[in-house]
Amino acid sequence: MPDDLSKSHRARKRFGQNFLSDHNIIDKIVRAINPQPDDIIIEIGPGLGAITEHLLNSGSQLTAIEIDRDLASHLRSRFPQLTLVENDALKTDFGQLLGNTHKAKFVGNLPYNISTPIIFHLLDFAKHCGSMHFMLQKEVVDRMAATPDSKQYGKLSIMVQYQCEVRPLFHIPPTAFNPAPKVDSTLVQLIPRIFPHQASDRHTLEKLVSSAFSQRRKTLRNALKANWSEQLVQLPGHYLAMRAEQLSIDDYVTLSNILSETNETTAS
Ligand code: SAM
Repeated sequence: MPDDLSKSHRARKRFGQNFLSDHNIIDKIVRAINPQPDDIIIEIGPGLGAITEHLLNSGSQLTAIEIDRDLASHLRSRFPQLTLVENDALKTDFGQLLGNTHKAKFVGNLPYNISTPIIFHLLDFAKHCGSMHFMLQKEVVDRMAATPDSKQYGKLSIMVQYQCEVRPLFHIPPTAFNPAPKVDSTLVQLIPRIFPHQASDRHTLEKLVSSAFSQRRKTLRNALKANWSEQLVQLPGHYLAMRAEQLSIDDYVTLSNILSETNETTAS
């Protein structure tokens, strides 16, 4: 190894650093990603390079985004052939990074403290994305994959499932990392898709779902009062009598499209 940072680096909590150290688990993750020589792969948070090394060995075209300056410098000397972007993934314009290239695979053992904002940021670039494999806190994957009438069902489930098929793959214990996190992890695969019922404006859908779940125990009529009081009369009464977790994604799209239409009519 060109430098010994992998032994001396002190994990930085503020960057959510828990490095994979179990080689069996690393192999299992790489097999799930199944990197091919003609793949374009974006790795978020390569850290000390546990997965990076295998992705490069597959011959795929890899770009890694790392925020930690010391790790970035370690990666540059360890993997001279790696395209490394020293940046905050949350501020990275993946559309610009990928240009007109065919769809990329996104992968990463995401920093747990900002995994949800990263997922929402990446959803903005879903059209550039063939598939995503992410290691996340198990509880976050449970929320992503949740269905109506469950405690885990919420904004994350709806906005992710609206744009992607969610496939939880396998669990990873804290002992696979150094330092060991306090929580279990799950590898999840997200496959972008076009939901059969399209929202005319995704931002209206997101705002509606946020308002509905901001007071999930109340009926929709009460939860939506704060942001949509004037538009409530346009919405079918049987939905307004329900609670946020009782509506399907399809129901939310229906309501969102009525609200978008009402906005347009009011604006014109
Ligand atoms: N991939 C490595 C592994 O599995 O061993 C490291 C995973 S560690 C959980 C998360 C990595 O993401 C760290 O390398 C950390 O420095 C990096 N990171 C944290 N916040 C980031 C951000 N906003 N943008 C890019 N990288 C970030």
